[in-house]
Amino acid sequence: MSYQFHTIEEFRDLLDSRQASSVELTKDCLQRIRNTSELVNCFVAVHEERALAAAQRADQDMANGTTGPLTGIPIAHKDVFCVEGEATTCCSKMLASFVAPYNATIVERLSQAGAVCVGKTNMDEFAMGSSNETSSFGPVKNPWNLERVPGGSSGGSAAAVAAGLVPACTGSDTGGSIRQPASFCGVTGFKPSYGLNSRFGMVAFASSLDHPGTLTRTASEAEIMLKAMSGHDKNDSTSVASVPSQAEFQQPRVLGYPARLFSNLPSAISSCLDTAIRTLEESGYRIVEIDIPHFDVAVATYYVISCAEASTNLSRYDGIRYGHRSEHRGGVTEMFEHSRSEGFGTEVKRRILTGTFVLSVGYFDAYYLKAQKIRRLIRDDYRKAFESVDLILSPSTPTTAFGLEQMDRDPTEMYRQDEFTVPVSLSGLPSMSVPCGFAGELPVGMQLIGPHFGEASVIALGKAFQSITDWHTKRPILPS
Ligand code: GLN
Repeated sequence: MSYQFHTIEEFRDLLDSRQASSVELTKDCLQRIRNTSELVNCFVAVHEERALAAAQRADQDMANGTTGPLTGIPIAHKDVFCVEGEATTCCSKMLASFVAPYNATIVERLSQAGAVCVGKTNMDEFAMGSSNETSSFGPVKNPWNLERVPGGSSGGSAAAVAAGLVPACTGSDTGGSIRQPASFCGVTGFKPSYGLNSRFGMVAFASSLDHPGTLTRTASEAEIMLKAMSGHDKNDSTSVASVPSQAEFQQPRVLGYPARLFSNLPSAISSCLDTAIRTLEESGYRIVEIDIPHFDVAVATYYVISCAEASTNLSRYDGIRYGHRSEHRGGVTEMFEHSRSEGFGTEVKRRILTGTFVLSVGYFDAYYLKAQKIRRLIRDDYRKAFESVDLILSPSTPTTAFGLEQMDRDPTEMYRQDEFTVPVSLSGLPSMSVPCGFAGELPVGMQLIGPHFGEASVIALGKAFQSITDWHTKRPILPS
């Protein structure tokens, strides 16, 4: 019996009705990963022994009657999260030999909830990218078309869920790294409000923008994962201590759509969005035209702020405190230079250089400070929009999955992939990408954006949309 493409709820039923044990489900999952690993390249480490031991413990817990929603269910973690005693490489040569001494908070919480971690998923190096091509483990292939990228940086997680290998993976989203690959792979990607999921034990890219989240097939699975992962963590100073009551967010009815911003969308994508919006309207939602006036400057703002923070965060990788140490002999400065030159890939170096530049004396005010001011204006745009609407709808990405190596010539072309996701990231708002159709054979995603801590509304609309459409149930056919 193969359990490919089963959801968390379907696994739960199998386990609760004793039709399968967690050990059986986990073995089946490990076998699937082995079968597809060469084809899709979405896993960078498989924790076979550890997973089977966790599955055995889960079976024991279930026999003792102590079962939670995730007990015994196989999941995987993006390689940006620390798993105690296992390599956490961020898919960089810089961290190739780093073994995490502790669990990230979300890893620990999911493990406490009984989830069985089967391994680590591939990603863009240090989570910088939109194609999963900058990974030191090589690119991930999109399960819908193996010549295309899965999106990034959580491309391995999105592809693993799309290929039906595991029902859920963790991911991280700094400027779109959960929502964009979710859209490219036809799965549900959820990034909650900034501060809801702890960043402790997640390798930092841009600390004020880094959001842990999930990739699942459905919004209801995203909800199950969120419940297990979220909550205050004293180890993360930006973790929120308390969240406003979710009751006021339960029932979204009025949805804003800033149509002006999406006038250049390819028709295959806009027709999916139009149909999705009509479907929502027919089921009783009111669609209201809104505007986000500073939307157009969000990409530039994001790249100034995220690169500045990255250049600071990545300064710790010097071959002494952390990371790869060059064999090159010489003085200490030379050793730093060689270690960093050898350890980081091209895109990471580009970000460090950009970030160092915008923070340097003479340019700080013109770039970094200005970007911070614009960030506030964008956040205020959303705040104002949410005075008249419950949620905001948007495409997730300006294109469908593009070809491998297609964006190699001009990095800024890749940066434009983020135009619909980064304004939301800069504002720290909860946002979910749900499958809303196909352009040819390739999935298209729609973003549902909520006000701060309005995760309940976002999840409610995601579930409602998935109860009236079946895009999230479509499966790619992989050559066997
Ligand atoms: N594609 C964006 C970037 O490269 C977003 C990455 C992310 O969200 N981690 O910065």
